[in-house]
Amino acid sequence: MTKLPNQAPILSGQVINLTGRSLDCIICEKPVSQRWQNDNLLLKCPGCGLIFSELISQPDEAGKNYRADYFSGVDYADYRSEKKALQETFQRYLKILARYSSGGRLYEIGCAYGYFLDLARRKWEVSGIDVCAESTKFARESLQLNVTGDNFLKAPVKKDYYNVFCLWDTIEHLAQPHQYLEKISRLITKDGLLCISTGDIDSPMARLRGKSWRLINPAIHLFYFNKNTIKRLLTKYKFQLLLFTYPTYSRTIRQMAYRMVQKQINKSSEMFSGCNFLSKISGTGLGDYIIRLNLFDIMVVIARKI
Ligand SMILES: [Zn+2]
Repeated sequence: MTKLPNQAPILSGQVINLTGRSLDCIICEKPVSQRWQNDNLLLKCPGCGLIFSELISQPDEAGKNYRADYFSGVDYADYRSEKKALQETFQRYLKILARYSSGGRLYEIGCAYGYFLDLARRKWEVSGIDVCAESTKFARESLQLNVTGDNFLKAPVKKDYYNVFCLWDTIEHLAQPHQYLEKISRLITKDGLLCISTGDIDSPMARLRGKSWRLINPAIHLFYFNKNTIKRLLTKYKFQLLLFTYPTYSRTIRQMAYRMVQKQINKSSEMFSGCNFLSKISGTGLGDYIIRLNLFDIMVVIARKI
């Protein structure tokens, strides 16, 4: 049976602050209490427009959302059966990266099962980290990758060693992305590259869908960037923007159906029809079919340390 995704805490009222104080914008460093679209959990900084979840104020429990079930029942129907689709997308990322880097040492934060590193090691010496112990165990034991199951902020990482850092679909999950950038900025070699993919909350699709945009999930996606806010954050930590692009991505029908059902579960009590729909798809074998699409709402950013 399909497992229900983690639900965001149910809150009511207009201005609720979980900590009883306003939260500082990680870019402007000014207090923010303005809601985004009257959402119960999302705030919007009036200074720079950064949108973020109040859940960043919760005690740091990084990892609690990211046990093995995150990859098979929370954010993904079944991450491992997405390998082919994920690697198609990762190949596009590598092609973009290859325009700026011909090799060296690459470090991925949020490497999950290691499917990106598995491709990247053809050209780079690779290492990675993920808070999920189960997925990193798989990457180490089944793919023989040099990855650690730990929190990057606490982990010892060699200084002036890595010339590429990658965060694919990761920065939006972090409660302290600025601290990650500060640490990367300190560790990365001179002229090193930082590569990020994340949703663009100012894309036409995100604007059209508003709170129904498929990436809106304040319990899991804590930060919502646009071109301007990601650029300001990167500049703050001494990175110069080289490229913004919106690559095509690949998903299985299973994962797309799962996300649609998940949205329904979050919105209403239609979960039983949703679960039926998923099991019907699984029964047909259609689930493995890969769709390639581009809604121009997921941006890839390449920046250079200055
Ligand atoms: Zn701000």
